[in-house]
Amino acid sequence: MNLHEYQAKEILASYGVPVQRGIMVESVDDALKASEQLKAETGTTVCIVKAQIHAGGRGKGGGVKLAKNAEEVKTHARNILGMMLKTPQTPGGINGPGKLVRKILIAEDVYVPEYSLCKEFYISILMDRQNRKNAIIYSTEGGMNIEEVAEKTPHLVFKEHIDPALGFQEFQARKIAFNLGLSGNAFKNMVKFIKNLYKAYLGADATLIEINPALKTGNDDIIAVDAKVSIEENSLYRHHDIITMRDETEEDPTEVEAKKFDLNYVKLDGNVGCMVNGAGLAMATMDLIKQSGGSPANFLDVGGTADANRVEQGFRIILSDPNVKAILVNIFGGIVRADRVAQGIIDAYNNIGDVRVPIIARLRGTNAEKAKDLIEESGLKVHYAIEFQEAADLVKKVLS
Ligand code: GDP
Ligand code: MN
Repeated sequence: MNLHEYQAKEILASYGVPVQRGIMVESVDDALKASEQLKAETGTTVCIVKAQIHAGGRGKGGGVKLAKNAEEVKTHARNILGMMLKTPQTPGGINGPGKLVRKILIAEDVYVPEYSLCKEFYISILMDRQNRKNAIIYSTEGGMNIEEVAEKTPHLVFKEHIDPALGFQEFQARKIAFNLGLSGNAFKNMVKFIKNLYKAYLGADATLIEINPALKTGNDDIIAVDAKVSIEENSLYRHHDIITMRDETEEDPTEVEAKKFDLNYVKLDGNVGCMVNGAGLAMATMDLIKQSGGSPANFLDVGGTADANRVEQGFRIILSDPNVKAILVNIFGGIVRADRVAQGIIDAYNNIGDVRVPIIARLRGTNAEKAKDLIEESGLKVHYAIEFQEAADLVKKVLS
């Protein structure tokens, strides 16, 4: 689950990671109030207005602005709230439609005592599956161009592996601070910063923490200016505070809809919709579609107990994707009976009314023969396949 910057900072702060203070608001009036509150705490009218969307690169898209006074807070808040913010990470990239900004963060200016005395670093923590370890990726070249840095000057990006059995060792934190070129108080503060960041990564069951920039101020403080945190979905049951941070308006609407029906749905870019029971079979089905020249429009696991209603909801969700040109149903009747699924397909077909694409159904296992009979007798335009390859060939045929 992805979080907004302001939520990520809340979590980090609770683990003792120094963050740029800020107040999240949803209106221009509240933006003004928030800036007054910050002024009371910091003594300056300067603050930053930051768009809160689930995508990075906001600064370059005009979603991060410095305000010197109340008038500028109003102007920036008015401009950013309600804008369609386009960044390389919003759907379709900078040429796409962008993402609607519903929330902004009014944040303190942490580039003190002046901008030129500050230094921006890049620090992230994630799981390195190949090495079966956690990894801290860091660079002296923080700020807004880390992708470019990684591509053109990869030697400026460092990696520190952490064996989860041994834990994060003191010397590793010191090595990182040293490689970042720090000394004195900045060095000490960075060591503390990274240790607490790693504690937050473990404690919140994060799959990713990315701080860009992590700032060294002119006073040698180390502060998280930006924060991206993703939480492992399967751990949410033990993070009741984090669950409430879910912002469904930021998520893919079809995926949100699928969750309501307990369907495991992931939207993809292809043109063949898939409805399968069991994650393994779903993966194999996607492979087969690829091999037969198609490309899957989604991953959908309707689960081991798929009933007619679930099948119908699955169809609706798949059909809501305009790219879908054919649907492949691949169900193995183990706990679920194949004839039940067949009935689900027939019901869905009739209830939805306008099924605009061909359906290829492969139903095996318990009562497979009965399923075949049901579909054939229904008179619907459903292609029936027995063998896996047969189903793939049918997909190819209907697409050509
Ligand atoms: P991103 O573009 O989505 O990664 O958003 P960031 O939160 O990283 O902000 C983008 C840029 O805004 C940063 O790299 C800074 O250069 C600038 N910025 C953020 N906070 C401050 C601040 O407190 N003071 C100043 N002067 N600039 C800031
Ligand atoms: Mn950033």
